[in-house]
Amino acid sequence: MSHSTLPFIPFTKPTIDEATISAVADVLRSGWITSGPKVLEFENALGEFLEGAAVRCFANGTATMKIALQVAGVGAGDEVITTPISWVATSNVILAVGAKPVFVDIDPNTRNLDLNKVRKAITSRTKAIMPVYLAGLPVNIDELYAIANQHRLRVIEDAAQALGSTWNGKRIGAKGQHDLVSFSFQANKNLTTIEGGCLVFNTERYGTDQVKLAEKLRLQGLVRSGPDGMEVDVLGGKDNLTDVNAVIGLHQLQQLEQFQRKRAILAKYYFDKINQTNLVNKGVRLPIADFENSNWHMFQIILPLQPLGKTRSQVMLALKELGIGTGVHYPIITNFELYRRLGYSPDSTPIAAEIGCSILTLPLFPSMSTADIDRVISGLEVVLA
Ligand SMILES: *Cc1c(COP(=O)(O)O)cnc(C)c1O
Repeated sequence: MSHSTLPFIPFTKPTIDEATISAVADVLRSGWITSGPKVLEFENALGEFLEGAAVRCFANGTATMKIALQVAGVGAGDEVITTPISWVATSNVILAVGAKPVFVDIDPNTRNLDLNKVRKAITSRTKAIMPVYLAGLPVNIDELYAIANQHRLRVIEDAAQALGSTWNGKRIGAKGQHDLVSFSFQANKNLTTIEGGCLVFNTERYGTDQVKLAEKLRLQGLVRSGPDGMEVDVLGGKDNLTDVNAVIGLHQLQQLEQFQRKRAILAKYYFDKINQTNLVNKGVRLPIADFENSNWHMFQIILPLQPLGKTRSQVMLALKELGIGTGVHYPIITNFELYRRLGYSPDSTPIAAEIGCSILTLPLFPSMSTADIDRVISGLEVVLA
């Protein structure tokens, strides 16, 4: 069986319509192309999407999370509990502010932090918990905040993949339910601005001081005051979003619910079709079918590599030859050389170590068809036979 004449199916692809492209051209012609009115408009639209929460935008998700840690007062000597199955940005920013990432093992079903193990990892140095919502599936938010409140910890939610996901019927980041929540608008995310990110603040609890600090940190520590109209009183970076990116975000936000509906339909189709095959009997493990809370950022399976006698790379290459793109999200962070040098090892989190080697992201994006999914599944049947 050869699919070589059929178009390649990437594991993801952004959906950018012509109205978005014209709006970008309008901004480029307007005479103001960096941070300006479109960023403000986008921040307000995101705030509205999140039931009135205070939102500020940044150049990317990584900068957003670093500023979130700074705003929460995380620094040298502090420990931050997080998951080893994430994009390395999550723990890199913890190191970048001088704190220590403490990696806790994951739940094999959700592939997110195991909150029971989080409880056991809390020490007198623990300052914050940084959970990640892999593929858009949140952790149990009630339990997360019960732990944080009991131990007086800050929470920085790495919700990079979870815009539009929900808990208790409210969107992740919705006003009143969270501490600091960081989203990414990188090209592969459910809503993209090419690169970008935003942070949601808990102003009911902490007022607006942390919002003002984040605004300073994203632009050289600058405040508009003093005889020259500017003053610098903290060390900030250059992490502002541009109006060109923001206008893309405004258009994406209008389409987000439609994108989400399509993602859910495609995910449902994956479950239905895979369950008609013997892939699960062969040892393929499916994600949790959470159509209540997940935004279906990704559809990830766990490969039965041992019985198969193949490596994940071999599986990926064989699928690629059939015109099917796949991804690895993610290899375990503690196996990276930098982290090994710092004394970390995958051995301390055995479930994450196993999943990091065997997780595979299948194609899922709004412009995909169910016929594409049929091709992915028959490709898997061939390659895993
Ligand atoms: C995308 C992503 C980030 C980083 O976002 P960037 O915008 O690429 O800097 C962080 N954490 C997770 C889980 C992500 O998926």
